[in-house]
Amino acid sequence: MQEYDIVIGLEVHSELKTNAKVFCSCKNEFGQAPNTNCCPVCVGLPGALPVLNKKAVQLVIKAGLTMGCEINDLAVFERKNYFYPDLAKAYQISQLVRPICLGGKIELKEREVRLNRIHLEEDAGKLVHSTAAIGTLIDYNRGGVPLMELVTEPDITSADEAVEFLTKLRQRLIFAGVAECKMEQGGMRCDVNISVKKKGSKELGQRTEMKNLNSFKSVYRAINYEAKRQIEVLENGGTIVQETRKWDDNHGKSVSMRKKETSSDYRYFPDPDMLAVEISREDVENLRNELPLMPEELKAKYMGEYGLSEYESDILTKEKDLSAYFNETIKNINNPKEVSNWILTEVLNRLKDGSEEIKISPKDLASLISLVEKKIVTRTNAKEMLTRIWENGEKIENLVKEFGGNVDESELKTLVENIIKNNPKAVADYKTSDTPEKVFRWFTGQVMKETRGKANAAKAEEFIKEFLSRE
Ligand code: ADP
Ligand code: MG
Ligand code: ZN
Repeated sequence: MQEYDIVIGLEVHSELKTNAKVFCSCKNEFGQAPNTNCCPVCVGLPGALPVLNKKAVQLVIKAGLTMGCEINDLAVFERKNYFYPDLAKAYQISQLVRPICLGGKIELKEREVRLNRIHLEEDAGKLVHSTAAIGTLIDYNRGGVPLMELVTEPDITSADEAVEFLTKLRQRLIFAGVAECKMEQGGMRCDVNISVKKKGSKELGQRTEMKNLNSFKSVYRAINYEAKRQIEVLENGGTIVQETRKWDDNHGKSVSMRKKETSSDYRYFPDPDMLAVEISREDVENLRNELPLMPEELKAKYMGEYGLSEYESDILTKEKDLSAYFNETIKNINNPKEVSNWILTEVLNRLKDGSEEIKISPKDLASLISLVEKKIVTRTNAKEMLTRIWENGEKIENLVKEFGGNVDESELKTLVENIIKNNPKAVADYKTSDTPEKVFRWFTGQVMKETRGKANAAKAEEFIKEFLSRE
């Protein structure tokens, strides 16, 4: 059997995180009762006039800036004509010749994937294929939700790489606040273009396209299935026809849907209802300044500034919420390494065990860590306190009262050792003073202060004596 290269290009649609839809003031909101969140514009009634939501344009620009795209100074909206029941006006307002973003790239472990473009368009309504006798229902709530479409060059070479690309893209959009990419709600959907060619050959093979895949797993399976199918066709002397195929995730196979239309079939033309959008360089720079650090920048900061390991930094920057939690915690206690330790073990374990969210505030976690640092509670007790906060929402102040007494012996010993080490002047005083008992009492006072009076005083004195005798 011949060896083949797999060639993949993706078209990824992501719903933007705006309050309102893209061409009207209806809410951009998921999960409403069918057809309760729409108006003549987003249902597509004849003669209704679209008004552009500036925020949607800004979010696409931000997305582009995180991927090194060039931002066009003039963006033009065009009508993409087709007949579909989920888009009543029979055209989608989209962009062709002058999209908002051009070029750019995303770096993968082994390859750089070039982007062709990112443009802004409107989502269509949703067809609900009813099992009841009525047939197909239409919910227009999704109509007019702002969508950004990102198109890659055919640079991806395997199912693994496609998933790596989508993971990185999703992470960037979420970190930048551009989109939430909730896959299960259709917030990110992907068309997979795929062809195969003889290994090393320069010329690309004929491609097929599978539309609207809405999980990374189905992208992965669809690519492997379709590559294998194409190779078998070629090996059997057949040819690949350019077509749109439907990926059937339940049966794990793709089936032919329709011969592929090309862009000329859509009869794109500039939408006379829409003004061209001028994007000034000043606007672009202002948006650039609003961007937070991207995951890899955060990772570099965690390693460089905070001295965390690559492993820790990777985990802490994978999810926006988790890195935000870490950032907030270290604002309350300046010990990134210890905070990272607690998050990677205590916090993440509890999430792994089925908690859906972190049930201790960054401030309380910082307090717990500091209680341990100051030896007011033992590490073991702090973990117990965390459990009680996590599970019952108990107040940290009350828990300190309950657990604070248990300063264990080895911790008390270390505390005494540190106090003596850190106060050479008092030690010298103790040795030379006429009233050493006074200085001794001062040491006991320090221990009680550090432990908020929870230490066993007799033990404390025993340790103080022991360490002073060594000086
Ligand atoms: P269309 O707009 O008709 O879908 P494009 O030329 O814009 O066509 O390409 C769409 C996607 O198909 C892009 O992601 C591109 O990288 C990818 N693509 C183009 N040619 C091939 C090919 N021979 N094999 C795999 N992917 C391809
Ligand atoms: Mg396409
Ligand atoms: Zn509307």
